[in-house]
Amino acid sequence: MKVLIVGGGVAGLAAGYELIKSNHEVTIIEAGSILGGQVRTFEIGGQQIESFYHHLFKSDVTIIELINELGLGDDLIWHDSSTAINTDNKIYPFASPFDLLRFDQVSFITRIRLGLAALWLRKNSNWHKYEGIKAQDWIISKVGRDGYEKVWEPLLSAKFGAHASNVSMAWFWGKIYLRFASRDSGIFGGEQLGYLRGSFGRLVERLANKIISSGGEIKTSMSVNNILIDEGKVTGVSTIEGGKLVNIAADAVIATIPSGVFAKLVPELASLDPDYFAKLNRIQYQWASVLVLVLDRPLSAYYWMTMTDKDCPFVVTVEHTNFVPHQDYDGKHIVYFSNYTDPQDPILDLSPDELLETYVPYIKRINVEFSRDWILEKWLFVDRAGQPIVHSLYHRDIVSHHSPVHGLYLANTTQIYPEDRGQNYSIRMGQRVASLINEQVN
Ligand SMILES: Cc1cc2nc3c(=O)[nH]c(=O)nc-3n(C[C@H](O)[C@H](O)[C@H](O)COP(=O)(O)OP(=O)(O)OC[C@H]3O[C@@H](n4cnc5c(N)ncnc54)[C@H](O)[C@@H]3O)c2cc1C
Repeated sequence: MKVLIVGGGVAGLAAGYELIKSNHEVTIIEAGSILGGQVRTFEIGGQQIESFYHHLFKSDVTIIELINELGLGDDLIWHDSSTAINTDNKIYPFASPFDLLRFDQVSFITRIRLGLAALWLRKNSNWHKYEGIKAQDWIISKVGRDGYEKVWEPLLSAKFGAHASNVSMAWFWGKIYLRFASRDSGIFGGEQLGYLRGSFGRLVERLANKIISSGGEIKTSMSVNNILIDEGKVTGVSTIEGGKLVNIAADAVIATIPSGVFAKLVPELASLDPDYFAKLNRIQYQWASVLVLVLDRPLSAYYWMTMTDKDCPFVVTVEHTNFVPHQDYDGKHIVYFSNYTDPQDPILDLSPDELLETYVPYIKRINVEFSRDWILEKWLFVDRAGQPIVHSLYHRDIVSHHSPVHGLYLANTTQIYPEDRGQNYSIRMGQRVASLINEQVN
């Protein structure tokens, strides 16, 4: 079969790699100038690094297997994670149950309740019972309002902003359950996070090379304008090449693009299956906005710091060089300041300099000595499909990989559920959709 894949992120590349192994003809079309999508990289100090911070958990078994299969296993390194909560101008380490016991922002009884609630979720694998329930309601009923507001609400707000109060309990279950699963010695053990030496861009590159060396084709800086359909069956895509509209024929098409974009590329879905089409358009995303500062010295002692004060304009800092040695980046220290926002948030209109101006007073809450003189470089990255908003009735809106059009498949982050979206699950989904195409043939 001639299979055309729209999108050269890890889902599209993983699907392409599986299909080429099954002897299909594969073409990948990527709108961006480089491959990788949300895992795309850029250079700091002579080394590639992700535009958006990335790490793996031990429970990310599909990507770990793929990294090994592609001969990169020796470069997958695991480090102890160091996490903290920044609240009321104070930094609390937050990596182990013992740190929770020392968290004096809530009463001792609340700390015990927080620990027991997490343990309860870890022991319960039946997440279906949480569908339709809001995480906020469940958490308050188990740990009280104070425990919710001081610990879990900041985590929900960090990802979902104003939508935090409506997030699905099934999503929250996935977050806790899988996070503990990634601790080698259970809930009381430390957590290790994984990183691919030289960036996850190496996995992207290795997948692309395998596809090309096996006869596949990958085109970058090319946008698909339309997915072509004839009598309910997909026939290919249209794009602009050399300034001209061209049609590229295919027996099957896999779209790995955001749901709203997909709906625009296949307007026929509105009449073919109004329910499927409406679901695509109901999906909402938070945009991811990440300011990267390259510093001449460390900012903090932590890799991951959740900022819980409501006035703070960023929600998390990720100090990459407290995870991967700064020597790998020519001695430079790298900190991501992360934000997930509604598409209308005025913060998205700010330039890197304006954003920095807004952030500086709050960066001083992490290190009071911080000064602009420390900054060697600054970068700003934005992704419009950073995080699907997984509200309590979200499960009703998840569409099948099989679209109503024969031979047309959708594989995007909105279909990752109940787990939080991540490379592991995008790769697993790419592989699944490749196997659906193999079933179509047989
Ligand atoms: C801020 C942030 C932090 C993250 N941190 C982690 C982490 O720590 N660990 C982890 O495992 N995962 C993390 N993730 C998630 C992970 O990056 C994603 O789950 C994964 O990369 C999604 O891959 P994908 O292929 O499904 O989608 P994408 O990467 O979005 O790929 C879709 C591709 O389609 C292309 N496209 C769109 N429209 C068209 C068109 N019309 N024509 C052609 N191409 C088109 C886009 O340019 C894009 O490259 C993070 C994501 C973000 C945003």
